[in-house]
Amino acid sequence: MKKILYSATKPTGRLTLGNYIGAINLWRSMQEDYICYFAVADLHSLTIDINPNELRENTYAQLATFLAFGLDPQKSIIYVQSHVKEHAELAWIMSCNTYFGEASRMTQFKDAKAKNKNISVGLFTYPMLMAADILLYDSSVVPVGKDQMQHVEICRDIAMRFNNKYGKTFVVPEGIVPSVGAKIMGLLDPTKKMAKSGDNDNDVIYIEDEDDVIRRKFKRAVTDSDNCIKYDPTNKPGVSNLITIYSCMKNLSINDCEKYFEGKGYGQLKNETAEAVIEVIGPVREKIKSLLSDKRYLDEIARLGAEKASSIARKKLQLVYKKVGLML
Ligand code: AMP
Repeated sequence: MKKILYSATKPTGRLTLGNYIGAINLWRSMQEDYICYFAVADLHSLTIDINPNELRENTYAQLATFLAFGLDPQKSIIYVQSHVKEHAELAWIMSCNTYFGEASRMTQFKDAKAKNKNISVGLFTYPMLMAADILLYDSSVVPVGKDQMQHVEICRDIAMRFNNKYGKTFVVPEGIVPSVGAKIMGLLDPTKKMAKSGDNDNDVIYIEDEDDVIRRKFKRAVTDSDNCIKYDPTNKPGVSNLITIYSCMKNLSINDCEKYFEGKGYGQLKNETAEAVIEVIGPVREKIKSLLSDKRYLDEIARLGAEKASSIARKKLQLVYKKVGLML
């Protein structure tokens, strides 16, 4: 029996090289061995202030990007989160089974709170929606970047608590992070994650960036002054980030990359990393453009995916409602 895998991206912006390395690349390789649910988590995007047209366009763009990178709707269930209403319904039950204190300890929430005055209640309860996403499908494997590991942990805690209280209902999932590339950093600020909703476009490589834009962004990438290509994330975060990206693009170990660049300069590291990225994402960009020109096709893919996901989710939600004592 194949295990079940769940993973998603938020359409708060266009997908980045970080999303590709930390998520989609891994998903593609796991498609053969797991029953996979890949979602565009549009409900999660509403936790921040987002323009409705942008949200809709980003949702289409992410669906197109999934397909262009080889996620296959024949093999995997690819859908848009809001099309499966059970996510929002189970999220309420999850919220009622989560302690205020444990939710308050989520570092992403704490960071957001420290930066912004006006944050929504949705941003606070978002890990409970994420727990619902995962638990609806009996997922046992959840590939995530390092930033999301704490949310998988709270999902495990909620699942175990619910199972103890109401009897075995949920599979307790495990989060897995890629061994290399679990946190791709920004090009201008390599101490922070490369994020699609960042403040500076030059910090981020978007999958849809043109070749010359990619070259320009890598040229400007922050390194350091000692011109020695060595993997040392603490003391050389910029150089280490470039080595990590290069290693993921070329499928080489960090060690092999260090050997390859031995005696070479930062200019060469930046150029070669840019070219390696272009080699991987250049052809995908053309596919994305072509898929985006046929929204009806994307609508149909989303509809079929949601139909399959709903049929599973509905059963789990009914079971949960019964367990907690709701009248069916
Ligand atoms: P999000 O960008 O929050 O929609 O994340 C979608 C997936 O991509 C999650 O598994 C994240 O952990 C992963 N991810 C996002 N940004 C990065 C990054 N800079 N490096 C590695 N993984 C990332």
